[in-house]
Amino acid sequence: MLQKIAIAGSGVAGSNLAAWLAKSNYPALVYVYDPQLNYQKACGNILLPEALEYLAVKPEVTNFIEEYEVWVNNKKVVSFSMDKNSSWMVIDKEKLVSSLREAWIHKYSFIRKPVDPYEIRSDYELVIDSRGPFSSNALRKILVARGIFEPKRDIEDRIILNFDTVNIGLSWIFPYRDKLNIGYGALKIQNPVERLKSFVESTGMGVFDKSAVRTSLLTIDYPLSRAIEGNVVRTGEALGLVLALGGEGNRLAIMSSKILADIIIHNENLDVYKKRLRRLFRETVKQGFVLKLLSSINDYKAIENAMSSLDVSFYKKFLLGSFNLKKAFLAGLKTGVFLRGSMRLYLEFIARYLSLFI
Ligand SMILES: Cc1cc2nc3c(=O)[nH]c(=O)nc-3n(C[C@H](O)[C@H](O)[C@H](O)COP(=O)(O)OP(=O)(O)OC[C@H]3O[C@@H](n4cnc5c(N)ncnc54)[C@H](O)[C@@H]3O)c2cc1C
Repeated sequence: MLQKIAIAGSGVAGSNLAAWLAKSNYPALVYVYDPQLNYQKACGNILLPEALEYLAVKPEVTNFIEEYEVWVNNKKVVSFSMDKNSSWMVIDKEKLVSSLREAWIHKYSFIRKPVDPYEIRSDYELVIDSRGPFSSNALRKILVARGIFEPKRDIEDRIILNFDTVNIGLSWIFPYRDKLNIGYGALKIQNPVERLKSFVESTGMGVFDKSAVRTSLLTIDYPLSRAIEGNVVRTGEALGLVLALGGEGNRLAIMSSKILADIIIHNENLDVYKKRLRRLFRETVKQGFVLKLLSSINDYKAIENAMSSLDVSFYKKFLLGSFNLKKAFLAGLKTGVFLRGSMRLYLEFIARYLSLFI
């Protein structure tokens, strides 16, 4: 049983982990570091239902999404519905993190300062790095902007995901209570706010208001291959667990932190951690690869054609966190996209993928 644990970062992953430890009355001295008293992070606030059983508290669901539209370069490609049990939920994420903190804050110490896990590692038996995008300097990140805007007409519980194959990015329109959560981020755009404004204005769905816009970093890369370095263990986005094409990171942060909490609570060997994360790693590696491939091809039309030829079942699975590489590969072959990737990219992908099984 560990006696002294530090958790660096109390966002979704760090707070969920501490909350599970507290729930199981884990008796160690636990110190949670985070400079932010109130968690505030720009987010689309989407959560997949799979995450619920990994969460130490229930989130407030503000909207259930049943209707979906996928667009490519502002043109609708597919639309479909999903039944309520498997569909996306919009949550109040700030409230979720506050409730998770409530679950441990009276039991463990909260220290309001930023830390570098490697600098404090000698003071603790185990240090958990859950600093989200502020960690993992080795990984590629982009700045993403999102605003909560007044709608121009009555909102429906419907989402629009609009892929931008020119700048290799994504804009979205999600409901949030009776407002709209609209965002934009792209690999080739450093300041996404202006693009967000034009997207909001071009769709005519929301009223752009600069004061309602927040930006934040998002990791879009392969995950780090080393989840454990000595007595430092990474979880959530600090490990690179974000699906690079759609930016989904909440579920992965929740699942990875619960998996790590269970290992600690049951006093298991940390070596099993990476094995239990294999499915999440696999999806992250696939999407990281496709994003790298797309960003290496300067032919937005070919990418647009490939993405537009994919069917409803592909996009349904994609939205549920499973990327069908075979279907994407066939679409890419027809339009030449997959033939233009460099051999280095393919070899890097194969090596990454195979390393998951070692
Ligand atoms: C604009 C935007 C929209 C997104 N939309 C979605 C979405 O709709 N659905 C989805 O699933 N994912 C989405 N994501 C991704 C998702 O927000 C993250 O992947 C998720 O929050 C990761 O959780 P985490 O706990 O790993 O990190 P975070 O939630 O980022 O938490 C990190 C914590 O670490 C703290 N911290 C930072 N530095 C230090 C330090 N030095 N010492 C101590 N603490 C520190 C921070 O204050 C923060 O509290 C979006 C991301 C962005 C940027």
